[in-house]
Amino acid sequence: MIIYKVIYNIRTYENIKIMKIINFYIIFFSIIFCKVEMNCDICKLAIKDNYYKDPWGNKYHSYHKKDGFFCNTCSRIISVRTTGGGFQFNDGRYMCKLCQTSIIKTDKEQSKSINSVIKLLNEKGIDIALNGIDISIVDKKTLQESIIHLSNHNEETIKGITILNNGKYEINILWGLTELEFKSVLAHELLHVWIDYNNIRLNEEKLEGFCNLGSAIVYKYYNNQLAKILLQSMENNNDPIYGKGYRYMRSMLEIHGWESLISILLNNNQN
Ligand SMILES: [Zn+2]
Ligand SMILES: [Zn+2]
Ligand SMILES: [Zn+2]
Repeated sequence: MIIYKVIYNIRTYENIKIMKIINFYIIFFSIIFCKVEMNCDICKLAIKDNYYKDPWGNKYHSYHKKDGFFCNTCSRIISVRTTGGGFQFNDGRYMCKLCQTSIIKTDKEQSKSINSVIKLLNEKGIDIALNGIDISIVDKKTLQESIIHLSNHNEETIKGITILNNGKYEINILWGLTELEFKSVLAHELLHVWIDYNNIRLNEEKLEGFCNLGSAIVYKYYNNQLAKILLQSMENNNDPIYGKGYRYMRSMLEIHGWESLISILLNNNQN
């Protein structure tokens, strides 16, 4: 319900051409030295100098980047030609029109997504019972307030959090996420629940790295272009906790496989 209420406050930019760049960690693009003449995917004028190329293959003049807005979900530069426009959420995030079509809007879509994540984790041998877990969709401010005492989370980019409240797990997930984002965030948070429920003690790097394996399960299952880009971004993340931790746990998984990795973790619990 929250989604409906807030979505009406969204400022729409149907005819966005170039918007302001925002600070978001998954944005990546490469600058390429121009050898052959080609046209810009934003303004259609010839590119005669160095240009940028996003992970989707969109090529654009380097001067568009300075004033451009990028989709918080897929990292595409938002423009009429590259994305059919886009919009800004009232909390500052931007989303392109292409991603907008897969936003989770209804309770039914949400519970379908929750069940499919539970199933995906289950297939790897991670059993999670939903009773005892409250999953809520919250606005950015609420999410940011809930992480005030958790110093390692980036307030700007956080999309989900798990809180233990009187023996109950509360998972808060940012509203307005697409199905893929929602599922990858949820898989990460559900692994936090699984770790805590089984009294497994890991240092922060291994903990967040393990939980990112949950997101990787979702990305690999979808395996579409966006999922590949998001997986790559997680693999390249130079954050000492989320990036290094993920690469460490991914190598553990490659060595042991899911069954043994789960046994190792369960045998190292604090019971
Ligand atoms: Zn251009
Ligand atoms: Zn997008
Ligand atoms: Zn986490």
